[in-house]
Amino acid sequence: MPVVRPFSSFCEGNSHSLSGIPEAKAFDPFALEREQMVREQIGQRGIRDRRVLQAMQKVPRHRFVPLEQQAHAYTDRPLSIGYNQTISQPYIVALMTEAAQLKPESVVLEIGTGSGYQTAVLAELAQQVYSLERIPALAEQAQQTLYALGYRNIHIRQGDGYQGWPEHAPYDAIVVTAAPPTLPPLLPDQLAMGGTWVVPVGEGCQSLLILHKTPQGLIQKGSFPVQFVPML
Ligand code: SAH
Repeated sequence: MPVVRPFSSFCEGNSHSLSGIPEAKAFDPFALEREQMVREQIGQRGIRDRRVLQAMQKVPRHRFVPLEQQAHAYTDRPLSIGYNQTISQPYIVALMTEAAQLKPESVVLEIGTGSGYQTAVLAELAQQVYSLERIPALAEQAQQTLYALGYRNIHIRQGDGYQGWPEHAPYDAIVVTAAPPTLPPLLPDQLAMGGTWVVPVGEGCQSLLILHKTPQGLIQKGSFPVQFVPML
């Protein structure tokens, strides 16, 4: 006669193993939409770095937008995150991340945490990410989201990005996600020699600049027309 396990202990066994599954591996109703986003909005527009594509495939963008925006989380545009701020269009996040040329040992400074979405993408590729946000409620919300998703290599502080975060400098990359009218003068000192600075600059018409720090000074490697919220 087969031994029939009591129903309750069978359920217990099951729920034990289920509770061991990390949150990120749980069923994700947006996985297909995210795959389509990566293929059509990012890969087909010329982002080739496999690590960047994998990070964009992994990070659940819908977790970083307000509930009423979740259905639009994977559309090809920026979305409101409250406080007159926006989460950037997925392609722009991928473009900036690829431009930052991160290695697994890189330490990154981000200015403008916002929802924390770009922060998460950076944290998939770098060793540590330090991120500054001016608006306390956004800094707090992003911290909670990122902690719930399991990120432990992200450090968020409420503060003024124009000052940078000198305690953890030099950074291998600095990624600015709000547009200052001109290049913030204190940040280059916090960038490592050979490091990359990705920063949208200008009022009205802005250019996303990709700058490399060399012994001769900052050298511009690229420029793209963009539209970011102002760095205040
Ligand atoms: N990367 C974000 C989008 C950020 S929008 C995301 O993925 O969601 C730009 C952010 O920069 C806003 O949250 C804004 O509050 C912040 N910001 C603007 N000026 C700043 C400053 N001087 N210092 C720090 N953060 C600033």
